[in-house]
Amino acid sequence: MSKTLRVLYMAAEADPFVKVGGLGDVAGSLPGALRRLPAAGQSHPDVDIRLILPLYPGIRDRFPAIEPLAQVAVSHASGPMIAEAFQLDLDGLIVYLIAGPPISDEGPVYSGDPIIDGNKFIFFSLASLELMRHLKWRPDILHANDWHTAPAVYWIHTNKRKDAFFSKTATILQVHNLPYLGQDTQDAMGAFGLVPARGSTLPHWAQHLPLPLGLLAADRILTVSPGYAEEMLTPEFGSGLDEYLRSQRSRIGGILNGIEPSDWDPATDQDLYEKYSAKDLTRRLENKHALQAELGLALDQNAFLLGMVTRMVHQKGVDMVLEAIPLLNGLNWHCVILGTGERPLEAASRRLQEQFPDRMRAEIRYDGALSRRIYAGSDALLIPSRYEPCGLTQMIAMRYGSVPIARATGGLRDTIPDYSVQKDSTGFLFDGDDGAAVAEAVRRAAQVFGDKRRWRALQRRGMKKDFSWDHSARRYQELYAALAETN
Ligand code: ADP
Repeated sequence: MSKTLRVLYMAAEADPFVKVGGLGDVAGSLPGALRRLPAAGQSHPDVDIRLILPLYPGIRDRFPAIEPLAQVAVSHASGPMIAEAFQLDLDGLIVYLIAGPPISDEGPVYSGDPIIDGNKFIFFSLASLELMRHLKWRPDILHANDWHTAPAVYWIHTNKRKDAFFSKTATILQVHNLPYLGQDTQDAMGAFGLVPARGSTLPHWAQHLPLPLGLLAADRILTVSPGYAEEMLTPEFGSGLDEYLRSQRSRIGGILNGIEPSDWDPATDQDLYEKYSAKDLTRRLENKHALQAELGLALDQNAFLLGMVTRMVHQKGVDMVLEAIPLLNGLNWHCVILGTGERPLEAASRRLQEQFPDRMRAEIRYDGALSRRIYAGSDALLIPSRYEPCGLTQMIAMRYGSVPIARATGGLRDTIPDYSVQKDSTGFLFDGDDGAAVAEAVRRAAQVFGDKRRWRALQRRGMKKDFSWDHSARRYQELYAALAETN
């Protein structure tokens, strides 16, 4: 009998508690998938995985079953800071939540202010470790995600030799988005006792930043797709860390994200006008018409309805779509962009709606229910990301029968076989990074859309693809086992 592995999974966001983007989806579904996975011998042990996240204001009201658990102190230059820990059993998954002065801010999860965010996430990272010590729950693996929880990895690295409790804990730092390094948080790092790694092999400018320090410290560096694990090593995508990362190749790997099939299922989705499956795509048409009606567009079956669901940031190429739209003359199209983020992109989207009042809609907000109706009602989903570590919207789109039109990068390239490969294709990929490239890809897709039989086949292939966690969760299980073995 192999022993049960203890894994602490740390994240700044996790569905259903709080979700801003894909990290929320992943942290909200992977731990559950891993917990349900049966053991299969030494290389696939039972995993007792527990999730820990900040208790942002508002969460307790929505989850009244959350119970106080303990108080722990985190060292700080100004004196010990008290963290209050809470616990919830979420369908069998133990979830710890950490509250405390730096987390009580009413603002958004990521305020964009490095002082607020630095204090919040470094406090959360170190309080999480103190809670484990208090509970005497010694993790075999600490699985951190992005810069927000990288400080915990670095703390273990620098204290492991003298700290009996964490001396056998192996660490994973998973990168969901490399350019977010935790810039300008050095004061908070210092105040919480995390000293720069002077003299290390990290580039000098990175020796005090949370994500690079986590990369330096982690036993294993993971990304969320094999494609991005390679791209991260190049100057174009390496955020200045590519040379360092190339020298660390043996520690780096990529495991593709999955989605939770029961969370994203057009046959059961309560937010849709009409539920449907790959077998009855005619019912899907009801969703297209209802979406057109909801948006105040003409109920036109033949209009090629393009959707986009995105954080409005440069990475996601919203500007390319805005440039592409005026180039679609001669085509019968509708377009809806649902997103929020950078003000200039929001404003430019609104202007385009004014320019094309009969065709274009800019829905500037975060709206989970509308996102689902867009996946179900659009013909195609635009995903022209400049880089995409994995991307979930393409998987959700395919599952809902909306055909992705995406840039051939990172996880998008890993998950969408282009139409040119025919038999297995589920979408359209393009290389360029401007409006003309997007417009050309839309025209290529629109041609196929004109042939209902071929379009349906494309939709069905996407809908039948398995994006569940099953395969990837096994890979995590293997990795945890291998890491625990060597530690
Ligand atoms: P990222 O993590 O970079 O934002 P992903 O494609 O991995 O991108 O995940 C995005 C997730 O966030 C998807 O579940 C998508 O549906 C959701 N999402 C993004 N923007 C919005 C929005 N404005 N309203 C509702 N859901 C959104």
